[in-house]
Amino acid sequence: MTRSNRPQTPAEAWSAMLEGNQRFVTDNPSHARQDSGLRQELAKEQKPFAALFGCSDSRLSAEIIFDVGLGDLFVVRNAGQVIAETILGSLEYAVEVLGVPLILVLGHDECGAIRATMNSTEGQVMPQGEFIHNLVGRITPTVLAAKANGLNEIDQITALHIRGTINELIARSTLIAQRIESGKLAVVGANYKLALGEIQEIVTIGNTK
Ligand SMILES: [Zn+2]
Repeated sequence: MTRSNRPQTPAEAWSAMLEGNQRFVTDNPSHARQDSGLRQELAKEQKPFAALFGCSDSRLSAEIIFDVGLGDLFVVRNAGQVIAETILGSLEYAVEVLGVPLILVLGHDECGAIRATMNSTEGQVMPQGEFIHNLVGRITPTVLAAKANGLNEIDQITALHIRGTINELIARSTLIAQRIESGKLAVVGANYKLALGEIQEIVTIGNTK
């Protein structure tokens, strides 16, 4: 990817993400854009083509699984990809100041944060950290809603959590909602399969076609 063919639209950005992930899945990564010349160029300005909001899980290494390089992705992560004001501010910055046309919300299978929340709703022992309780508390309504609808598998709950995360993102950020409305931004929710290395689309808000 050079400066001249960098993705500009939601559709271009999403297809670049999918293509990069396929190179990773098939053991054919380009490892592009990691050299000293690029460092010099990027020191002056960054122009990432997408923002990624994902789980902090060590297996969800953003640039590796999408086979992109320095300056390509604006990455925001926390355990279980839980919306918070700092997350909203970071994503608004990516959209308003950096002009990214795509936000990818990325969960994954066997997420520890979601598993911990499932365990806590089943009365099992919780981790001791006080702030882990806060994080689990933010995922708990989704787990309870899922179970009330007969969805008990972690993959089902993860998909629901990704949808809920995107709904909250759009409901709370007027800026992001307006950019989607104008066609300049799309938000995709996807799940990453740890063993396959593949991302699977769950929901798309906006136009990526
Ligand atoms: Zn996780």
